[in-house]
Amino acid sequence: MSDNSLKIERVETFVLDVPTTRPHVLAMTTMNHQSMVILRLTFSDGTQGIGEATTIGGLSYGDESPEGIQLTLDNYITPMLLKNEYKSVGATMAFINRNIVGNRFAKTAIEIALYDALGHRLGVPVSELLGGRVVDRLSVLWVLASGNLDSDIDEAHKMIESRRHNVFKIKIGKRSVEEDVAHVAAVKKAIGDTGRVQVDVNQAWTRSQANRAAPMLADAGIDLIEQPLAFNDIEGAQHLVNQGVIPIMLDESVQGPKVALDLVRAKAADIYAIKILQAGGLTEAQKVISFAQTSGAALYGGTMLESPVCTIASAQLFSTYEQFEWGTELFSPLLQNDSFINETLDYSDFQLTVPNTPGLGISLNQEKVDFYKR
Ligand SMILES: [Mg+2]
Repeated sequence: MSDNSLKIERVETFVLDVPTTRPHVLAMTTMNHQSMVILRLTFSDGTQGIGEATTIGGLSYGDESPEGIQLTLDNYITPMLLKNEYKSVGATMAFINRNIVGNRFAKTAIEIALYDALGHRLGVPVSELLGGRVVDRLSVLWVLASGNLDSDIDEAHKMIESRRHNVFKIKIGKRSVEEDVAHVAAVKKAIGDTGRVQVDVNQAWTRSQANRAAPMLADAGIDLIEQPLAFNDIEGAQHLVNQGVIPIMLDESVQGPKVALDLVRAKAADIYAIKILQAGGLTEAQKVISFAQTSGAALYGGTMLESPVCTIASAQLFSTYEQFEWGTELFSPLLQNDSFINETLDYSDFQLTVPNTPGLGISLNQEKVDFYKR
């Protein structure tokens, strides 16, 4: 194969605003739609690859916004891609990393698209390019974030009955510790042994609030606390882990491999949420996973409330590991009111099937893309 003559001929980016099925209430924002940056690369041999960069609620979650990501892709990264001959995914990412500081989300969109295109060129799923598939299905939880107790309980019962989800994450941190604990304890009590409940505080607590809440949540039968403290409060997280009252998961803290290594050294988490966008790409996420796994910590597959594109890219990666002990939260396509891919994702029996066709195994529906793009 004369890869020497291969070039990237076209780079397209779209910001799509897709409405959510219900308002999604988080400690830092309430979402009624999700804005996603979708990228498409076209190579000189005709192969195409798609990628995505999405943040939760614009700039309320991280330091890259959809508009900023699109600008970085269009004005800075695209000219580099068009100017140089294409050699490989690794060489392209190394070149981008030499020339662009930070911008993990934008870089991830490129890497996903490069792997998708390579998978199409070689006729294999992306999982095979990332070490090879170990599992075909991933368990997927559901986030109860309506903000209303009766709706949350009703939603949980419906999910269990339809065998779509039986693990629930509840977003807390907006109200007092007592109100939040009462809310999640009531949900846990209502579903009993038919389901499990975990909470995500999204950095909203002080150390004293976290210390007070931990035993209360453990008593209520809650499985774990995700990101109770500020992303950079490593010492506080370490203290909670040492107390051993309830498992502590870090999410916003895990900003790439270097930080993950610091967290692992500090023994600051029992569980690591793995997000490919937060890590800075699929190969960067592999490093985060390696650090966490080697240290004896457990894994959980996270999301930025992404479209099917990034969701399936994550699933392709997660499928190359024998066990994500705490499952995944790759549910966000189900929170979106409409889909802009041609395929229907298989969510059934509490799990998602990882597509097994070349590349990511999904394709853009151009009509829908045109409808939702800004
Ligand atoms: Mg989280």
